[in-house]
Amino acid sequence: MSRTIPVQKNEYIDVLFEDLTHDGAGVAKVDGYPIFVPYGLPGERAKIKVIKVNKGYGFGRLIELYEKSPYRIEIAKEDLHKYGGCQLEHISYEGQLKYKENQVRQVLTRIGKLEDVKVHPILGMDNPWHYRNKAQVPVGEKEGKLIAGFFKPRSHEIVDTDESLIQIPEINEAVQVVKEICGRLGIRAYNEESHKGILRHIMARYGQKTGELMVVIVTRTADIPHRERLVEEIVERLPEVKSIVHNVNGKRTNVILGDKTTVLWGNEVIFDYIGDVKFAISALSFYQVNPVQTKVLYDKALEYANLTGSESVIDAYCGIGTISLFLAQKARKVFGVEVVPEAIEDAKKNAALNGIENVEFEAGEAEVVIPKWYEEGNKADVLVVDPPRKGCDEALLQTIISMKPKKVVYVSCNPATLARDLRILEDGGYKTVEVQPVDMFPHTTHCEAVAKIMLKVVTPK
Ligand code: SAH
Repeated sequence: MSRTIPVQKNEYIDVLFEDLTHDGAGVAKVDGYPIFVPYGLPGERAKIKVIKVNKGYGFGRLIELYEKSPYRIEIAKEDLHKYGGCQLEHISYEGQLKYKENQVRQVLTRIGKLEDVKVHPILGMDNPWHYRNKAQVPVGEKEGKLIAGFFKPRSHEIVDTDESLIQIPEINEAVQVVKEICGRLGIRAYNEESHKGILRHIMARYGQKTGELMVVIVTRTADIPHRERLVEEIVERLPEVKSIVHNVNGKRTNVILGDKTTVLWGNEVIFDYIGDVKFAISALSFYQVNPVQTKVLYDKALEYANLTGSESVIDAYCGIGTISLFLAQKARKVFGVEVVPEAIEDAKKNAALNGIENVEFEAGEAEVVIPKWYEEGNKADVLVVDPPRKGCDEALLQTIISMKPKKVVYVSCNPATLARDLRILEDGGYKTVEVQPVDMFPHTTHCEAVAKIMLKVVTPK
């Protein structure tokens, strides 16, 4: 017998929010039927309007709050644009940390069925503002003026933004200055609908430790009008700029960067440090956007790896080698594998830049390369994984289970897939010892965590 749905579309009802979803919406239940309501917070009573009714769950809109959560913060309407792209703007930082920590605890029990794992209090930022070292800002026009900011949720409308509270101030300034110069020089914005116009995105990257700034101008056309004047003015007004790059994206697409990149002024890369390791960052390279918390996360990964200098370590999903180079300082040898060949090129360059010689990188899928290494006799003592949101490939987990490294350190950007993968490892003879959540992206729903996983010792009968 199918259950009847207790609410109807367009109905107004009073609810109590009991929980938050992984994307930050409030969850209310009517006779066990869950309704997801953006901006609802646990503990709050509210009037909502039911706007969509599916078989197993529905969606609603917040109409009136009767009782507010102590974690709710009010933001003045004129300041809302400064929070562009932040789903948790209505929650105090203390509340956000609590929510993320709970989320990790919940998925470990619910999805991972791991009852006795020690989950440490989340490591948040002392100052959770102005932390991002990279902005990619879409440009448009309003009433004949250039505007740049972020897309309104679920729309193609750009909200003009003069300051983002999560970007490093130097990044904010760079975007404003470039917008102002381009506007004054009469460089027209790209128009998605007509596929006409020129300027698509203004991108800026900043090395927080080095104070080096990169500006990337993304246009539809191969030429930028008044190019020399534009470059001259940027150099004059942004003294920290070390690199000005032009990227051409002539396609009808919402992918930001195109195939053609040329340096207009200065160097091709800027530099930054995480801990003592130096990184070269080009317009296209992947680089962690919150270097302060990246250091916190990697220090934890290093602590869990507990290296003495004699170990052979594999870093699966190594990207540009960030974790590998960190580990190499304490290990005998590190092997990194990553599917994007350009990232592997960057990883090799970064190793050379730091004079680190006990690392080897190979491009390929972790689930293919690591079994090959295993057959060749390369057995790691410690295996580190840092997969994308979808988690580890099942084949890789099975390889780990047959290879039996004594220790696995799992760095995760998605607690749900972390929990799923920990369960597979647990069933394969491993034990999750402890998990450390880390807040890398304050005010957004993203949550990172590091897990320490040990091979269970089988005592002979
Ligand atoms: N550890 C790195 C990057 C982690 S992001 C750092 O901190 O900088 C996850 C990485 O996994 C991405 O670089 C992505 O390209 C890579 N990746 C995705 N699927 C993969 C696979 N099947 N095998 C190897 N790498 C993969």
